[in-house]
Amino acid sequence: MSVLPTEPAIVARLRAAGCVFAEDEARLILATARTPDEASAMVERRAAGLPLEHVLGWAEFCGLRIAVDPGVFVPRRRTEFLVREAAALVPHRPVVVDLCCGSGALGVALVAGLDEFTLHCADIEPAAVRCARRNVAPFGGHVHQGDLFDPLPGALRGRVDILLVNVPYVPTGDLRLMPAEARDHEPRTALDGGADGLDVLRRVTAEASRWLVPGGHLLFETSERQAPDAVAAVERGGLSAAVSVSAEFYVTVVIATKPV
Ligand code: GLN
Repeated sequence: MSVLPTEPAIVARLRAAGCVFAEDEARLILATARTPDEASAMVERRAAGLPLEHVLGWAEFCGLRIAVDPGVFVPRRRTEFLVREAAALVPHRPVVVDLCCGSGALGVALVAGLDEFTLHCADIEPAAVRCARRNVAPFGGHVHQGDLFDPLPGALRGRVDILLVNVPYVPTGDLRLMPAEARDHEPRTALDGGADGLDVLRRVTAEASRWLVPGGHLLFETSERQAPDAVAAVERGGLSAAVSVSAEFYVTVVIATKPV
């Protein structure tokens, strides 16, 4: 029988491996591991550079524990701002769609506070779809595998109230500037937005109007630098656009609306 590694020993190991928040991480590992062997294995995987969320198997997002499997994009805390903005726009009994859903964190976080809703999520990556199904199932949502809108049930056309899309928006040339945890352990499809970072977004904005109900909203995250081009893409797609910036979360969100 192995002995549970002590918290100070874990802190020392993580610190030596360069983990800046070694104390917090040690506590989370000890609280998550079910056996001493599992705790030791988690510490070694973290020391080897895996993102903490992949080591733990979950990330906190909007106060929820979201399962995050290896190879799946880790929901960022700053993206809670997008969910907050969406929550302010949700009508009664909304139809919510979360595209490029990864773990499904955005869709789940939005509907978690609602009584009645329909939730559909989609992602192109099989690993993300498997992970999202686990997160979405308790809420009675559906997860589809495929490219953007392709796998959605046709019956949703013209009926979507809230369309959440955390598109990959890192310009290809900037990928090398990302932390190693993201570069090495998250799928490139979840990050790489093409030359200016807006390639996937332009495909979303070209089609969004067909899926939204009149008055429905598309929300996505972008960077301050990309915002003007992102707004132009939204307007070309026949939607109006408002930009919302959070100093607290250091993030820019575009809220697009289909005219009534
Ligand atoms: N800049 C974002 C991040 O790393 C990119 C996420 C994304 O492309 N969706 O958090």
